[in-house]
Amino acid sequence: MSDDQMRSALRRLPSVDATVQSVRQELGDAVDQRYLTETVRQLVDMTRSRILGGDIRCIEMFEPRLQSTLAALVGNRVQTVINGTGVIVHTNLGRSPVSRPAADAMARAARNYVPLEVSLESGERGGRGAELSALMAALTGAEATLGVNNNAAAILLALSALCGGKRVIVSRGEAVEIGGGFRIPDVMRQSGAILVEVGTTNRTNLRDYASEIDEDTAAILTVHASNFEISGFTYKPALSELAALAHSKGILLIEDVGSGCLVQTDDYGLAHEPTLAESIEAGVDAVTASGDKLLGGPQAGLILGTRSAVDAIRQHPLARAVRTDKTVQAGLESTLRHYLRNEQDEEIPIWWMMSRTRDQLVERTARWHAALTDERFRLINTTSVIGGGSLPGKTLPSAGLAIVPGESSPTEIARSLRLAEQPVFPRVENDCVIIDARTVLPDQDEALIETLRTTLPFSGSV
Ligand SMILES: *Cc1c(COP(=O)(O)O)cnc(C)c1O
Repeated sequence: MSDDQMRSALRRLPSVDATVQSVRQELGDAVDQRYLTETVRQLVDMTRSRILGGDIRCIEMFEPRLQSTLAALVGNRVQTVINGTGVIVHTNLGRSPVSRPAADAMARAARNYVPLEVSLESGERGGRGAELSALMAALTGAEATLGVNNNAAAILLALSALCGGKRVIVSRGEAVEIGGGFRIPDVMRQSGAILVEVGTTNRTNLRDYASEIDEDTAAILTVHASNFEISGFTYKPALSELAALAHSKGILLIEDVGSGCLVQTDDYGLAHEPTLAESIEAGVDAVTASGDKLLGGPQAGLILGTRSAVDAIRQHPLARAVRTDKTVQAGLESTLRHYLRNEQDEEIPIWWMMSRTRDQLVERTARWHAALTDERFRLINTTSVIGGGSLPGKTLPSAGLAIVPGESSPTEIARSLRLAEQPVFPRVENDCVIIDARTVLPDQDEALIETLRTTLPFSGSV
């Protein structure tokens, strides 16, 4: 890179004043002049120092960066996307969308004062989360429940409160990475508990656990292998056997069950996913789970179990750092009430998706197809997956639309769908762009058809 190139790049860098002037014409009063000037100044300074540092191509990025920063400043609605991937609990798309009543409850809690920590009867300070405990007691038999930020926080908090400075016994096959670098051995270290691995990757029996329990041992921890499967020559004791062993030695059984499932997945044609009720029934002292996987609620973690274990956890200093806010509490409670009324298949989006039959989805895609009247759309059979680290390798038969590539490549088509005014995330499979009907929310049909109709760079016919 020559000095000339650098000088020419610097010459192309617009002045702060000129940029602010031209941007103001587009934005009007959407952003106050002070903040607009500050934003442009930061971007001009950053671009200049990168050019001086040798990155002359940075000048090409000035305008796109400016546009995306301005879009972030004026964005007056939450960007939503249509999930056509067929992955139901899609972590990158925000896991489970909540039901309409849950969303309304969250908005209502957000807009009002609520009796979060006060008793209506006495006017005195009262405990948080009594409703959550009552709901979970009915649904799972748990004596007490505590809501926290997410399951990762739930495990960290439970281990810190119940096992800090003590040994915790974990099967070698369960000292796993859950995702995003979240590893059981690391969380354990962070909590101050001492990890004692027993058994082998594929087989751990009751004796392996029993032989390591001593007076410095606080608990056995068992972790649901949610995002992978070990099959073949495997063995692990039943949860109730682990509970009996732990209790006979005066220690606790803690379980990270992952998904927080409250229904029998067998009824949906899926493999059996352990339920929270089964864990409580087996005698687990403290179970941790996510609120936004198979429970279908907002992002949260749940810790449920015996009153003494949950009380000890509630009183730990970390509990304050990871507690839920009033909106999440309201959303969780509202979600749980759907299960009490047995209406999850109609009300909770992920269970609505899970309970659609292939015939229903075929009918739905046929309606889309009829509305589109374009030869490039084909009706296809496909398969949806559960996602979110739940039920690995288990699929549901589904139906969808395939877009025959034509002159644009599948990658280009997928990109233009994502960049549409109402973005659609399709799946690219076997050189085809597919929209899986199962994960498209019930009220998104029209928006989907509109995006398909207007976005695709259709030129000529197939
Ligand atoms: C998903 C998962 C976690 C992490 O839960 P978050 O709610 O994302 O914090 C922990 N353990 C298991 C077994 C999981 O499946």
